Amino acid sequence: MSSKTFHGGVHPKEYKELTEHLAFEIFPQPQQIVLPLSQHLGKEAKTLVKKGDDVKAGQMVAQAEGFVSAPVHSSVAGKVMSVGKEQTSSGFPKDSIIIKRNGTIESESLTNEFRLSTLNPEQISPDEIRERVALAGIVGQGGAAFPTSVKLSPPKDKVIDVVILNGCECEPYLTRDYRFMMERPDDLISGLKLIMKALGVKRGVIGIENNKPEAIELLTNKIKYEHGLEVVSLKTKYPQGAEKMLIKAVTGKEVPPGKLPMDVGAVIQNIGTAIAIHDAIVKGEVLITAALTVSGKGIKNPKNLIVPVGTTIQTVIDYCGGVTDDSVKIVVGGPMMGTAQFDLHAPVMKATSGILVLTKDEVAENPETPCLRCGQCVGACPLNLMPTKLARYSQLNRFDDAEGAGITVCMECGTCSYTCPANIPLVQWIRLGKQKVLQMQKERTAK
Ligand code: SF4
Ligand code: SF4
Repeated sequence: MSSKTFHGGVHPKEYKELTEHLAFEIFPQPQQIVLPLSQHLGKEAKTLVKKGDDVKAGQMVAQAEGFVSAPVHSSVAGKVMSVGKEQTSSGFPKDSIIIKRNGTIESESLTNEFRLSTLNPEQISPDEIRERVALAGIVGQGGAAFPTSVKLSPPKDKVIDVVILNGCECEPYLTRDYRFMMERPDDLISGLKLIMKALGVKRGVIGIENNKPEAIELLTNKIKYEHGLEVVSLKTKYPQGAEKMLIKAVTGKEVPPGKLPMDVGAVIQNIGTAIAIHDAIVKGEVLITAALTVSGKGIKNPKNLIVPVGTTIQTVIDYCGGVTDDSVKIVVGGPMMGTAQFDLHAPVMKATSGILVLTKDEVAENPETPCLRCGQCVGACPLNLMPTKLARYSQLNRFDDAEGAGITVCMECGTCSYTCPANIPLVQWIRLGKQKVLQMQKERTAK
């Protein structure tokens, strides 16, 4: 099978062998959870509980506030200890609910006392799918955590003709999507069909990088007799899983700068999101767990885990045997786009895909030198931007120039930083400049 791809990109060392063979383990219920009210893009959810309240596992403790928002449910049965600002893995404190679990049985399974009714996927209507996805608090599992019900409600004038499930998992180390594909292929296909039904789409594609031949073979066999479904093998290259890259590779269409996938008739969903949709409709489950890979040479026992949302990073690391003596850095997410952690009390959130504990030999710590004008970052940028220029404008506070050079188009994939022989933290500078420009744009619109 030939493999499709896009222009630019890089081939970082994969490190998938550390966990790809490890089936998901169910994490025991933690003693305490921290639930940020904003675990998604859009408006923060509004709390429904106060200090001293008793809550059940699966109970909604914060409701969606507006269209682009998502409710939050408790992953344990217990008592609300506080509602206030707590540290999160994004690096910023956010309003959060702390719940102390009742009971002492460590092996207590994940009960969902607030289970929703089960619905028949054959008979359910598109509106019922959207309503259930919204009620279950499902957000995109690919990192950005966009509320899924919104993605399933495109404006009437947008014609969607393909749903693409993103099975690339192009970030090194992460193997959670791979495990989902291997362990729950039927549920994943069921989730894909529900997404297609919600959008009235006849074509569904599962895009998988060709470093996962077993997943490609398994899913190709599973959909053999399914009308309108296909598996597409994609070249293993970072960032193959970025929405625009995936659409280009699968459909040949380019999403213009500033436009969305739906502008070219595509909707992308993550593998984990499709499974969460299946679970919400067929099993009546709300989203109270996160599937994640704990990996890196600095963690004693790497694992793939299903973790109650709100469990602290420290608790997960302890469960995996702790860190090795030579560990130097802890990252939430993948090594290319993830966030380095300074406070391990931050919780696992709905879209947390991984916790990496890295050793010195996995972290490039070479000193930064002046730009060599080699152009490697420009050649590697999948969006044809000029990373060196964008970073420079940001350094010099020339935000108008940065805006003109398209800084808001940058998807912060980190490919430019990875290629830079001068070790210039390009993506960090660009991210900073992008935030300033977005703020400037917001203020302009408010005037
Ligand atoms: S981080 Fe931005 S500028 Fe750098 S390669 Fe990715 S898209 Fe291009
Ligand atoms: S890759 Fe680094 S050294 Fe080369 S042009 Fe870009 S910023 Fe300069």
